[in-house]
Amino acid sequence: MPEGHSLHRYADALRADLAGEQLAVSSPQGRFAAEAAQLDGARLRGSEAYGKNLLLEFATGGTVHVHLGLRGLFLRYDDRAAIPRKGARLHLVGERAAYDLIAPITCALLDPDGVRRLLGTLGPDPLRAEADGDEAVRRLRAHPRSVGAALLDQSALAGVGNVYRAEVLYRPRIDPRTPAREVPAAAYAAVWEDLRVLMARGVRVGSILTVDELPDDAPPEQARYVYKQQACRGCGAPVRTWSLDGRDCYACEREQLGG
Ligand SMILES: [Zn+2]
Repeated sequence: MPEGHSLHRYADALRADLAGEQLAVSSPQGRFAAEAAQLDGARLRGSEAYGKNLLLEFATGGTVHVHLGLRGLFLRYDDRAAIPRKGARLHLVGERAAYDLIAPITCALLDPDGVRRLLGTLGPDPLRAEADGDEAVRRLRAHPRSVGAALLDQSALAGVGNVYRAEVLYRPRIDPRTPAREVPAAAYAAVWEDLRVLMARGVRVGSILTVDELPDDAPPEQARYVYKQQACRGCGAPVRTWSLDGRDCYACEREQLGG
Protein backbone atom coordinates (compact mmCIF):
# COMPACT_ATOMS: atom_id res chain seq x y z
CA MET A 1 0.00 0.00 0.00
CA PRO A 2 1.29 3.48 -0.77
CA GLU A 3 2.22 5.09 2.56
CA GLY A 4 2.29 8.82 3.30
CA HIS A 5 5.62 9.47 1.59
CA SER A 6 4.15 8.28 -1.77
CA LEU A 7 1.21 10.66 -1.48
CA HIS A 8 3.51 13.58 -0.68
CA ARG A 9 5.66 12.72 -3.70
CA TYR A 10 2.59 12.67 -5.93
CA ALA A 11 1.32 15.94 -4.41
CA ASP A 12 4.69 17.60 -5.05
CA ALA A 13 4.84 16.34 -8.66
CA LEU A 14 1.27 17.38 -9.46
CA ARG A 15 1.90 20.83 -7.95
CA ALA A 16 5.15 21.30 -9.89
CA ASP A 17 3.62 20.16 -13.19
CA LEU A 18 0.08 21.51 -13.09
CA ALA A 19 -0.62 24.10 -10.37
CA GLY A 20 -1.66 27.49 -11.68
CA GLU A 21 -2.77 26.08 -15.03
CA GLN A 22 -6.20 25.56 -16.51
CA LEU A 23 -6.58 21.80 -16.88
CA ALA A 24 -8.49 19.58 -19.22
CA VAL A 25 -10.23 17.17 -16.83
CA SER A 26 -11.93 13.96 -17.88
CA SER A 27 -12.75 10.47 -16.66
CA PRO A 28 -11.89 7.93 -19.40
CA GLN A 29 -13.35 5.12 -17.28
CA GLY A 30 -16.54 7.14 -16.72
CA ARG A 31 -17.09 6.80 -12.98
CA PHE A 32 -15.99 10.38 -12.31
CA ALA A 33 -17.42 11.84 -15.55
CA ALA A 34 -20.05 14.18 -14.09
CA GLU A 35 -17.58 15.66 -11.60
CA ALA A 36 -14.83 15.91 -14.24
CA ALA A 37 -17.21 17.88 -16.48
CA GLN A 38 -17.71 20.43 -13.66
CA LEU A 39 -13.94 20.87 -13.35
CA ASP A 40 -12.95 20.79 -17.02
CA GLY A 41 -11.11 24.00 -17.94
CA ALA A 42 -10.74 25.15 -14.32
CA ARG A 43 -7.44 26.33 -12.86
CA LEU A 44 -5.70 24.03 -10.40
CA ARG A 45 -4.91 26.09 -7.29
CA GLY A 46 -2.93 23.56 -5.33
CA SER A 47 -2.04 19.98 -4.58
CA GLU A 48 -1.56 18.81 -0.99
CA ALA A 49 -1.16 15.52 0.84
CA TYR A 50 -2.51 14.86 4.33
CA GLY A 51 -1.41 11.40 5.41
CA LYS A 52 -2.60 9.01 2.71
CA ASN A 53 -5.06 11.54 1.26
CA LEU A 54 -4.33 13.75 -1.74
CA LEU A 55 -6.33 16.95 -2.30
CA LEU A 56 -6.41 18.78 -5.64
CA GLU A 57 -7.97 22.19 -5.12
CA PHE A 58 -9.52 23.92 -8.13
CA ALA A 59 -10.41 27.59 -8.59
CA THR A 60 -14.10 26.60 -8.83
CA GLY A 61 -14.01 25.92 -5.07
CA GLY A 62 -14.20 22.18 -5.70
CA THR A 63 -11.50 19.83 -4.41
CA VAL A 64 -10.78 16.35 -5.71
CA HIS A 65 -10.07 13.93 -2.86
CA VAL A 66 -7.97 10.91 -3.83
CA HIS A 67 -7.15 7.90 -1.65
CA LEU A 68 -5.09 5.28 -3.45
CA GLY A 69 -5.97 2.33 -1.20
CA LEU A 70 -3.84 -0.76 -1.79
CA ARG A 71 -3.18 -0.60 -5.52
CA GLY A 72 -3.91 2.90 -6.76
CA LEU A 73 -1.32 5.03 -8.57
CA PHE A 74 -0.78 8.05 -10.78
CA LEU A 75 0.87 7.74 -14.20
CA ARG A 76 2.65 10.80 -15.56
CA TYR A 77 3.05 11.59 -19.27
CA ASP A 78 5.56 14.10 -20.64
CA ASP A 79 3.39 14.37 -23.74
CA ARG A 80 0.23 16.30 -22.93
CA ALA A 81 -1.42 14.64 -25.96
CA ALA A 82 -0.74 11.13 -24.61
CA ILE A 83 -3.73 8.84 -24.90
CA PRO A 84 -5.04 8.03 -21.41
CA ARG A 85 -5.55 4.48 -20.16
CA LYS A 86 -9.13 3.34 -20.72
CA GLY A 87 -9.35 2.42 -17.05
CA ALA A 88 -8.21 5.83 -15.76
CA ARG A 89 -10.68 7.23 -13.24
CA LEU A 90 -9.30 10.73 -13.76
CA HIS A 91 -7.22 12.24 -16.56
CA LEU A 92 -5.59 15.63 -16.11
CA VAL A 93 -3.92 17.58 -18.90
CA GLY A 94 -1.86 20.74 -18.37
CA GLU A 95 0.47 22.68 -20.62
CA ARG A 96 3.54 20.47 -20.08
CA ALA A 97 2.34 17.15 -18.69
CA ALA A 98 -0.65 14.85 -18.29
CA TYR A 99 -1.63 12.41 -15.54
CA ASP A 100 -3.83 9.33 -15.24
CA LEU A 101 -5.24 8.22 -11.90
CA ILE A 102 -5.56 4.43 -11.86
CA ALA A 103 -7.52 2.24 -9.41
CA PRO A 104 -7.98 4.57 -6.42
CA ILE A 105 -10.39 3.52 -3.66
CA THR A 106 -11.58 7.12 -3.45
CA CYS A 107 -11.86 9.81 -6.10
CA ALA A 108 -14.52 12.27 -4.98
CA LEU A 109 -15.37 15.94 -5.48
CA LEU A 110 -15.62 17.80 -2.16
CA ASP A 111 -16.83 21.29 -1.30
CA PRO A 112 -14.96 23.31 1.36
CA ASP A 113 -17.13 21.80 4.14
CA GLY A 114 -16.33 18.32 2.88
CA VAL A 115 -12.61 19.12 2.97
CA ARG A 116 -12.91 20.40 6.56
CA ARG A 117 -14.77 17.24 7.59
CA LEU A 118 -12.16 15.00 5.96
CA LEU A 119 -9.25 16.81 7.62
CA GLY A 120 -11.09 16.63 10.94
CA THR A 121 -10.92 12.83 10.79
CA LEU A 122 -7.12 12.79 10.48
CA GLY A 123 -4.41 12.88 13.11
CA PRO A 124 -1.20 14.90 12.63
CA ASP A 125 0.93 13.98 9.58
CA PRO A 126 4.68 13.79 10.33
CA LEU A 127 5.42 15.09 6.82
CA ARG A 128 3.48 18.33 7.21
CA ALA A 129 5.47 21.26 8.55
CA GLU A 130 2.58 22.60 10.64
CA ALA A 131 1.79 19.21 12.21
CA ASP A 132 1.57 19.17 16.01
CA GLY A 133 3.72 16.35 17.38
CA ASP A 134 2.43 16.88 20.94
CA GLU A 135 -1.11 16.28 19.67
CA ALA A 136 0.02 13.08 17.95
CA VAL A 137 1.58 11.88 21.23
CA ARG A 138 -1.67 12.65 23.11
CA ARG A 139 -3.79 10.76 20.58
CA LEU A 140 -1.48 7.74 20.50
CA ARG A 141 -1.31 7.51 24.31
CA ALA A 142 -5.11 7.76 24.56
CA HIS A 143 -5.62 4.95 22.06
CA PRO A 144 -7.67 2.09 23.55
CA ARG A 145 -5.69 -0.67 21.82
CA SER A 146 -2.10 -1.74 21.27
CA VAL A 147 0.63 0.61 20.08
CA GLY A 148 0.78 -1.46 16.86
CA ALA A 149 -2.91 -0.75 16.20
CA ALA A 150 -2.59 2.90 17.24
CA LEU A 151 0.17 3.67 14.73
CA LEU A 152 -2.04 2.54 11.82
CA ASP A 153 -5.10 4.47 13.08
CA GLN A 154 -5.21 7.46 10.75
CA SER A 155 -7.22 9.47 13.27
CA ALA A 156 -4.28 9.28 15.70
CA LEU A 157 -1.41 9.69 13.22
CA ALA A 158 -1.87 10.23 9.47
CA GLY A 159 0.32 8.62 6.81
CA VAL A 160 1.87 5.62 8.55
CA GLY A 161 1.29 2.26 6.88
CA ASN A 162 2.48 -1.26 7.49
CA VAL A 163 6.15 -0.79 6.60
CA TYR A 164 6.76 2.35 8.64
CA ARG A 165 4.81 0.82 11.56
CA ALA A 166 7.03 -2.26 11.68
CA GLU A 167 10.25 -0.33 11.35
CA VAL A 168 9.55 2.62 13.61
CA LEU A 169 8.60 0.25 16.46
CA TYR A 170 11.67 -1.91 15.89
CA ARG A 171 14.14 0.98 16.02
CA PRO A 172 13.42 1.75 19.74
CA ARG A 173 12.69 -2.00 20.33
CA ILE A 174 9.01 -1.49 21.27
CA ASP A 175 6.75 -4.58 21.36
CA PRO A 176 3.83 -3.83 18.98
CA ARG A 177 1.47 -5.69 21.35
CA THR A 178 2.06 -3.23 24.23
CA PRO A 179 -1.16 -1.41 25.21
CA ALA A 180 -0.88 2.09 23.72
CA ARG A 181 -1.44 3.77 27.13
CA GLU A 182 1.58 1.95 28.62
CA VAL A 183 4.09 3.43 26.17
CA PRO A 184 5.68 6.52 27.78
CA ALA A 185 5.04 9.92 26.22
CA ALA A 186 8.78 10.38 25.71
CA ALA A 187 8.90 7.17 23.64
CA TYR A 188 6.06 8.42 21.43
CA ALA A 189 7.80 11.77 21.03
CA ALA A 190 10.92 9.93 19.86
CA VAL A 191 8.84 7.82 17.42
CA TRP A 192 7.30 11.04 16.06
CA GLU A 193 10.73 12.61 15.49
CA ASP A 194 11.98 9.38 13.90
CA LEU A 195 8.98 9.32 11.55
CA ARG A 196 9.63 12.92 10.50
CA VAL A 197 13.17 11.98 9.48
CA LEU A 198 12.42 8.55 7.95
CA MET A 199 9.37 9.68 6.00
CA ALA A 200 11.21 12.75 4.66
CA ARG A 201 13.89 10.31 3.44
CA GLY A 202 11.07 8.30 1.81
CA VAL A 203 9.83 11.42 -0.01
CA ARG A 204 13.36 12.21 -1.21
CA VAL A 205 14.28 8.69 -2.30
CA GLY A 206 10.88 7.32 -3.33
CA SER A 207 11.23 4.20 -1.22
CA ILE A 208 11.00 3.28 2.46
CA LEU A 209 14.55 2.98 3.83
CA THR A 210 14.93 2.62 7.58
CA VAL A 211 18.42 1.19 8.08
CA ASP A 212 20.56 4.22 8.90
CA GLU A 213 23.92 2.94 7.65
CA LEU A 214 22.71 1.99 4.17
CA PRO A 215 22.96 4.38 1.22
CA ASP A 216 19.80 5.81 -0.33
CA ASP A 217 20.15 3.54 -3.38
CA ALA A 218 20.14 0.29 -1.35
CA PRO A 219 17.50 -2.24 -2.47
CA PRO A 220 14.39 -1.70 -0.28
CA GLU A 221 14.24 -5.36 0.82
CA GLN A 222 17.71 -4.94 2.38
CA ALA A 223 16.93 -1.57 3.86
CA ARG A 224 14.47 -2.69 6.53
CA TYR A 225 15.13 -4.27 9.93
CA VAL A 226 12.05 -6.50 10.36
CA TYR A 227 9.43 -5.77 7.68
CA LYS A 228 9.13 -8.93 5.53
CA GLN A 229 12.44 -10.21 6.95
CA GLN A 230 13.07 -13.81 8.05
CA ALA A 231 15.84 -12.77 10.41
CA CYS A 232 16.17 -9.45 12.22
CA ARG A 233 18.68 -7.27 10.41
CA GLY A 234 19.75 -5.82 13.77
CA CYS A 235 20.55 -8.98 15.78
CA GLY A 236 19.89 -12.00 13.53
CA ALA A 237 17.12 -13.50 15.70
CA PRO A 238 13.95 -14.76 13.97
CA VAL A 239 11.30 -12.21 13.02
CA ARG A 240 7.79 -13.19 14.11
CA THR A 241 4.89 -12.32 11.79
CA TRP A 242 1.25 -12.26 12.81
CA SER A 243 -1.98 -10.67 11.65
CA LEU A 244 -3.36 -7.60 13.39
CA ASP A 245 -6.68 -6.35 11.94
CA GLY A 246 -5.89 -8.17 8.71
CA ARG A 247 -2.47 -6.54 8.26
CA ASP A 248 0.78 -8.38 8.92
CA CYS A 249 2.74 -7.25 11.94
CA TYR A 250 6.51 -7.92 12.18
CA ALA A 251 8.75 -7.89 15.23
CA CYS A 252 12.10 -9.29 16.38
CA GLU A 253 11.61 -12.27 18.72
CA ARG A 254 14.60 -11.38 20.88
CA GLU A 255 14.70 -7.58 20.95
CA GLN A 256 10.98 -6.72 20.89
CA LEU A 257 9.01 -9.77 22.01
CA GLY A 258 11.29 -10.92 24.84
CA GLY A 259 11.63 -14.35 23.24
ZN1 LIG B 1 16.66 -8.28 16.56
